[in-house]
Amino acid sequence: MSLLSATLESTADGILVVSAEGRISSVNNKFLAMWGIPRELVDAGDDEAVIGSVMGQLVDPETFVEKVTALYADPDAESHDVLDFRDGRTFERYSRPQKVEDRVVGRVWSFRDVTQARRDQDQINRAMADLAAQASQLKRLAFQDPLTGLSNRQLFNDRLAHALAGPCGTAVDVLLLDLDDFKEVNDVHGHHAGDQMLIEVGRRLRACVRPSDVVARLGGDEFVVLLVGSLDADAAAERIVESLGVPFWLDGTMLRPSLSLGLASIGEGADDASELLRRADIAMYAAKAAGKNRYLRFRPEMMAALLERTDLEAGLRTAVDGGGITVHYQPIVSARLGTVVKVEALARWERDGILVPPQQFIPTAERSGLIVDIGAEVLHRCCTELGPWLAQDPTRSLAINVSGVQLQQGNFPELLFATACSRGVDPHQLVVEVTESVFFDDDCLVHRQLVQLRSAGVRVALDDFGTGYSSLGRLQDLPVDTLKIDQSFVAMIRTGDERLPILNSMIDMAHGLGLTVTAEGVETPEQAGYLMRRGCDSLQGFLFSRPQPAAELPAALSASTRTITALRGDTAAQTQPVL
Ligand code: C2E
Ligand code: CA
Ligand code: CA
Repeated sequence: MSLLSATLESTADGILVVSAEGRISSVNNKFLAMWGIPRELVDAGDDEAVIGSVMGQLVDPETFVEKVTALYADPDAESHDVLDFRDGRTFERYSRPQKVEDRVVGRVWSFRDVTQARRDQDQINRAMADLAAQASQLKRLAFQDPLTGLSNRQLFNDRLAHALAGPCGTAVDVLLLDLDDFKEVNDVHGHHAGDQMLIEVGRRLRACVRPSDVVARLGGDEFVVLLVGSLDADAAAERIVESLGVPFWLDGTMLRPSLSLGLASIGEGADDASELLRRADIAMYAAKAAGKNRYLRFRPEMMAALLERTDLEAGLRTAVDGGGITVHYQPIVSARLGTVVKVEALARWERDGILVPPQQFIPTAERSGLIVDIGAEVLHRCCTELGPWLAQDPTRSLAINVSGVQLQQGNFPELLFATACSRGVDPHQLVVEVTESVFFDDDCLVHRQLVQLRSAGVRVALDDFGTGYSSLGRLQDLPVDTLKIDQSFVAMIRTGDERLPILNSMIDMAHGLGLTVTAEGVETPEQAGYLMRRGCDSLQGFLFSRPQPAAELPAALSASTRTITALRGDTAAQTQPVL
């Protein structure tokens, strides 16, 4: 007996033995310690008090009773479960029948305190759950644009590939969109406003499509929408353009997003992702070129326009390298002196023996940056060709057109000085013609270079004055010497007797600021007469001469002088009182 009870005491479990009649027959000390039951209670045979103490400690005593009842109804049954205590402890409970030679004589209950193990397990479970959450967060970030919360390029590519691999005949549409003039929002309102605008655009895009459609930000101000199985992609595109046009307020400023959208759909030769995206891109480019704030669906003709542009650019590149850029000269006559005092150099592109006018190639040259090389070539050529003419008379000058792109380079004055010097041309005899747009970006660089040129004696003329955003008010702040009145104002003069207050005040205002005035595009004697009477200093136009190659220049100069002499005679006669 004592051996047996010593064995019982040496186990790590709390043991309770109950007789077949349901009476407590023995317990070990561990059991008493675990349950906090005084030994006297057991020794006194007060089973109700023991049970009461047990029940009072459990979180769920009813289930406990149910289980016990079920086990007593089935004396052979074994069971294993877990008990939760009100004080946070957890016990494992085993129950087995007590047998003597196959006869059930009672039941042994053993309890093991697994609180710590349970806590450890809980901790492990929690750590695992945290890890899983983090992993899914990381996964989300890898496919999400952090600013807008939209999908990113990678997820879009995955989804597009998946959509294209889907069942044949499913509609797949790619809507590529780019915000118009987003750079301005950033520059004028700051990057915070720019970010808010991107977030708002993302929100509106999401609201325009079904939850299953992918809306991704590809970077910067470029977004893409993927529609799979859509019945009407054009309607979705239209909805997007409309929805973005609604203004929104940010810190008291009204912002109005506008976008250019290119739409391309599966089929008609577009069956892989790169072709679809390329077409959407071409259509988006066409939407921008067509005036922005619109959507256009890809059409094959758009490809032709693109090819034409690339072809033009390639041809121009070859021309720049192979001497295909030439210069024509147009005389500018002085109304006061009655002679040609200046000529303007105008670039020409000789392509396959045909002259391409600058309006056709200058914009492409500016966009591609080729204008820098073209400008250098024109400068070099005209200084070479007109060097001797300029050397004959220091009052003669040569005007060259300079694009804003050239001035952005920052080294234009050095280039001009070096070229003039190498051809023996005095910088005092050079005039640089720029349009007002070069002053737009408030870039000190452009301003500084013009000031530098002027301090070396080069004069600056403001070309095409009166077009675009010209403002007379700003004139006094600009480093210019001459105002060139745009042809469109000269064209308003028909009979020479009309009243043209804007033209008049341009001339007066320029004179008031100490600038000289040149009128461009003078085609008729009436126009010349009007301008001379209004005190215009110089005249330029087909009336005197068309732009001519250097070889024809002497003849052009004589013809121009003859014309102005005749006009001056007429004007003098008109202004002289008739006796
Ligand atoms: P622009 O500087 O305003 O040049 C005057 C343009 O008016 C020339 O056109 C000239 O041929 C044209 N023109 C002159 N008189 C008359 C006239 O009486 N009636 C009419 N209808 N037109 C007249 P062009 O040579 O085709 O040049 C067009 C524009 O291309 C120039 O306008 C200038 O902005 C640009 N350009 C020409 N050469 C160069 C260059 O070397 N560099 C840069 N950056 N631009 C250039
Ligand atoms: Ca010009
Ligand atoms: Ca002009």
